[in-house]
Amino acid sequence: MLRKFLSKLKQTFKSGAAPAAPKPATGAKHGKPASREGAHRPERKPAPHSGQSGHSGHARPAPAPRPAHAPARTTPAAHTPRAAHAAKPLPEVPKLATAFTALGLSDRLAYAVQQKGYEIPTPIQVQAIPVVLAGKDVIGSAQTGTGKTAAFSLPILQRLGTHGPIRCLVLEPTRELALQVEESFKNYSKYTDLRTTVIYGGVGYGKQREDLAHGMDILVATPGRLLDFMEQGEIRLDHIQTLVLDEVDRMLDMGFLPDVKRIVAKVPKSRQTLFFTATLPPEIEQLAAWALRDPFKIAVSRERSTAETITHAFYPVVQAQKFELLAHLLEQTQYHSVIIFSRTKSGADYVASRLKQAGHTCAVMHSDRSQQERVDALKGFKSGKHEVLVATDIAARGLDIADVSHVINFDVPENPEDYVHRIGRTGRAQKSGDAFTLVTEETWRDARSIERFIGMSIDWKKVDGFNYTYSGIFDGGGMPQVAPEKPKSRLTRGGRR
Ligand code: AMP
Repeated sequence: MLRKFLSKLKQTFKSGAAPAAPKPATGAKHGKPASREGAHRPERKPAPHSGQSGHSGHARPAPAPRPAHAPARTTPAAHTPRAAHAAKPLPEVPKLATAFTALGLSDRLAYAVQQKGYEIPTPIQVQAIPVVLAGKDVIGSAQTGTGKTAAFSLPILQRLGTHGPIRCLVLEPTRELALQVEESFKNYSKYTDLRTTVIYGGVGYGKQREDLAHGMDILVATPGRLLDFMEQGEIRLDHIQTLVLDEVDRMLDMGFLPDVKRIVAKVPKSRQTLFFTATLPPEIEQLAAWALRDPFKIAVSRERSTAETITHAFYPVVQAQKFELLAHLLEQTQYHSVIIFSRTKSGADYVASRLKQAGHTCAVMHSDRSQQERVDALKGFKSGKHEVLVATDIAARGLDIADVSHVINFDVPENPEDYVHRIGRTGRAQKSGDAFTLVTEETWRDARSIERFIGMSIDWKKVDGFNYTYSGIFDGGGMPQVAPEKPKSRLTRGGRR
């Protein structure tokens, strides 16, 4: 009976949504320049019928026009019948008493968080979770990297409880952020029956339309694409209970403010609104005053300090000698376990293969590795099977690995806060640790930014007995505190191998 109903529903939907190829947009549709969403590289392949023009990266494609004879589409997303969702029994989770349950979160959510490896809630999580759980509006001055996504998604999931109509809308400025936030919601809700879907511009409508038809509780969207679906009557926001406006200052920068206002106007007034922005210029303050009711204010800054138990050192070297210096450093260092960070995946593979040739036991972790490979790499490293883990910044956050004695930055991280995250893998829980960074002429400025960011100067060191090739970085008395302001090399900053 249920199966029959489902297949009928599918049929009806299929015929109603027969996707005519969407026209490339003029971009004038919402009174704003051609979509800026499209300027970001899609992480998902466009649906085959997307009909994107060669320039679609710069224009939001218009939605498939509704054929004149077709009835107005019913809104499968907004009206997903509860009956269509055959209730599966939820997996068992253990009874927990963690720092996250202490904030009022259920075992199901705390267990998912535990599996992500989070042990201690970040400051924004400590502040926001109880307030959001209490149903209050929040205005948070916080950037990515503070744990903000979990700060809003965990209490939202708890308030939603079980699967029903779409009740939470999260607006994000870019597809990358939208995908990241969708992934977080999915991770944190994996022991519940709540569902999350993401829609964003620059790709076809077909796949997203199908996703919407499956029904969801949480919709993560970029503003332009959401408006397109709303205008086609395919998404309605009547049931929204919680609205999240994330990275509002970036939405302002990208010209999305009029779109955001149009969307907010369509969400029921009796809602909870969570508003996150790194800065609060007057325009954003006005928007907040209009969209929020008696908000609770939270301000957190990104982690700048580094554990006092860590000793830092910069090792100047020419690009061509980086691996030799690394090998030399490892030889001379009494290490227990070491993580080596590379900026790029290919760099990580290169370092790992050379270390293996040199006789080190070594695991690799980056985003081109499958989930299983990453799990195995981490397991092998944690158990001591591998003495070295070579990784990209994917391993810099959230991982709590006990007893990492050394972190070596084979490449200086591009963003100073990544340095803090990387070296946060050592010196944990009052254990001492060393953080070595190989600095070349090309990355000298990034190294300086790190010192400014963490508010301390780092010693420059040379490895005894290493046959250094001369470089401009050694100018001025051997150590680069007095190196010239501009690097002599013509190689650009942050260049990728
Ligand atoms: P966000 O600010 O939401 O982009 O989060 C930044 C990073 O911190 C993400 O990689 C999260 O997985 C991670 N993260 C969030 N909360 C915690 C926590 N309590 N402990 C460790 N890592 C966390």
